[in-house]
Amino acid sequence: MAMARIREILQTGEPDQVITVKGWVRTKRESKGFTFVDINDGSAMAGLQVVLNADMDGYGTVVKDLTTGSSVEISGLLVESPGKGQRVELQGQSITVFGTAEGETYPLQKKRHSFEYLRTLGHLRARTNTLGAVFRVRNACAQAIHQFFQEQGFLWIHTPIITASDCEGAGEMFAVTNLDLAKPPQDPSGAIDYSQDFFGKPAYLTVSGQLEAEIMAMAFTNVYTFGPTFRAENSNTSRHLAEFWMVEPEMAFCDLVGNMDWAESFLKYIFKFVLEQCPEDMDFFNQRIDKSVLATADNIINNTFERITYTEAVKLLEQCDRPFEFPVEWGIDLQSEHERYLAEDLFKKPVIVTDYPTGIKAFYMRLNEGGETVAAMDVLAPKVGEIIGGSQREERLDVLERRITEAGLDPATYWWYLDLRRFGTVPHAGFGLGFERLVQFMTGMGNIRDVIPFPRTPDNIEF
Ligand code: ATP
Ligand code: MN
Repeated sequence: MAMARIREILQTGEPDQVITVKGWVRTKRESKGFTFVDINDGSAMAGLQVVLNADMDGYGTVVKDLTTGSSVEISGLLVESPGKGQRVELQGQSITVFGTAEGETYPLQKKRHSFEYLRTLGHLRARTNTLGAVFRVRNACAQAIHQFFQEQGFLWIHTPIITASDCEGAGEMFAVTNLDLAKPPQDPSGAIDYSQDFFGKPAYLTVSGQLEAEIMAMAFTNVYTFGPTFRAENSNTSRHLAEFWMVEPEMAFCDLVGNMDWAESFLKYIFKFVLEQCPEDMDFFNQRIDKSVLATADNIINNTFERITYTEAVKLLEQCDRPFEFPVEWGIDLQSEHERYLAEDLFKKPVIVTDYPTGIKAFYMRLNEGGETVAAMDVLAPKVGEIIGGSQREERLDVLERRITEAGLDPATYWWYLDLRRFGTVPHAGFGLGFERLVQFMTGMGNIRDVIPFPRTPDNIEF
């Protein structure tokens, strides 16, 4: 007697075999002489239809217990389904109920629930159609990412989660300490004495693994990180989490154009992979969440991304007759409304914007001729805006030292980062992809809180 997952049974299960399935009841429909039960085990959007005949042993009790949400093991004969909608169904013979779901109090009864409401049910929402599809697609995205880089000879590296360096130089960091916050040790001037803290100096949760990835790229040429990242974002938006996953490839002997080429082929590969792996889930998103999901995927795979400079982007935004909330002029950081206009309305596909003003970008980005702009690139996607941020890195020691100082940072704390420019420096580049932004973009889900199992946002840490 084989125990199989429902996805396999639905796709390749041979009729006239005795099989066993385990899962949770989604729906139950009683009719004269029969009860139909839909069993789901998370392996697929669709469940397996089980038919219980009224003359089976203990029919009455079993049918009473099989309420929505209850967990069961069912053995029986797999047969061709006479009904529409499924190739095979199971004639239930013996049934074990592991746990009932307390009837009407189970919150996920068969009706549509809002995503807001489902967020209050973080322990149960993965059992719904939409969240189930999201987490299968999320898994496929992760697999695609590893497969892409491994096929291309990149080394997966693990960068620290606790760090003393602020990569972005922009604050937004969570402190990590084991000092007693009620009475922290103080130095003679009254400031907190971090020399008595666990690491002997202030420590934080990482906002990016990039600086360490650069170290590893200087040994292995092409590397990538894929790990948790933390930002104390105060912004309560549909695109920001306090804890998210980031993918950061770093390539030695690579310039900005090479960086763009990597980013583009990377995104194309992921979309193709997910469409092949999760066709039912992607169809579901296209029907129920956002009618443009499949067209968007097709667009990513088959069209080349638009590539424009920041200066060109500003001109296009200035020419546009739509009023923006944030006025446009050269030197501003592009806001989400600007990014979306470019990707969604103007080009109707991903747009890579390059060469941003030096003043609004991080110190490690390579200074262009003339010094007004840096070799930065952002990949802007329809609906979500920025999905990838990257740059060619400054590999010239003297320029980098000057940029660190100009950013108001202390070069001494970046001694090892500067050493990379002293010992065998090479042109190199890399980017960061927000993993949840990718899943959002892929699925059309409106809120980033619904594409990560347990979202962390301001005032939200249940589950
Ligand atoms: P944004 O302007 O949208 O806040 P950023 O400029 O702060 O993004 P980067 O520092 O370049 O972003 O980070 C790289 C990528 O990480 C971004 O392109 C985005 O996809 C993702 N990202 C950044 N912040 C968050 C966040 N708070 N939650 C989820 N993803 C994020
Ligand atoms: Mn940000």
